[in-house]
Amino acid sequence: MSHRILLLGAPGAGKGTQSAKLAEAYGIDHVTTGDALRANKEMETEYGTPKSFMDAGELVPDPVVNEIVKAALADADGFVLDGYPRNLEQAEYLSAITDLDAVVFLDVDEEVLVDRLTGRRVCEACGANYHVDFQSPEEAGVCDECGGELIQREDDTEETVRERLEVFYENTEPVVDHFREEGVLVEIDGEAAPDEVFDRIQTVVEG
Ligand code: AMP
Repeated sequence: MSHRILLLGAPGAGKGTQSAKLAEAYGIDHVTTGDALRANKEMETEYGTPKSFMDAGELVPDPVVNEIVKAALADADGFVLDGYPRNLEQAEYLSAITDLDAVVFLDVDEEVLVDRLTGRRVCEACGANYHVDFQSPEEAGVCDECGGELIQREDDTEETVRERLEVFYENTEPVVDHFREEGVLVEIDGEAAPDEVFDRIQTVVEG
């Protein structure tokens, strides 16, 4: 069975967490434009560096992210795509370069997203996610998995979070609507417990 999975959802909906679990469960690539851009923040492009857009909570220009996705999907047998497409132009580009087997939307209320994002801490070394209130590590500031240092992402401050959510509702919600209209979108309550969300996604993927 082929696994080409698209996970849609606002920032903080749980796409990163669920994608990592899916990649491990099915032995597929986790393709995430956010991580790819963070690893290349200072890269000079004709539009400037990704950093200048990311720190403001804005979208990095389509040609830059489209290239990243094209290269990543070219070598992937199966994949879970996380953080892309974020607007209708990217969605069109994606449909021209691949077919999808499952499209899942993680639905989470806006105020819950703000709380999740502003309290989020990530391991600098392995990328594991924590939350100061809902999922704190055993030792403050230290990753349970690898002992790495936990940091707050530069774009997880309240002001930038609000901007990122605005960008989501304006640019990415039309992508969600597009897949809903095509009749391929499966919506999952992203406020359920993480293991519950994962079980539901697996049911969709294997169905
Ligand atoms: P994320 O880690 O998915 O929350 O992405 C962090 C930031 O990277 C976003 O706020 C954007 O600035 C940028 N970014 C990630 N994916 C995309 C994309 N598909 N299109 C444009 N910008 C993106």
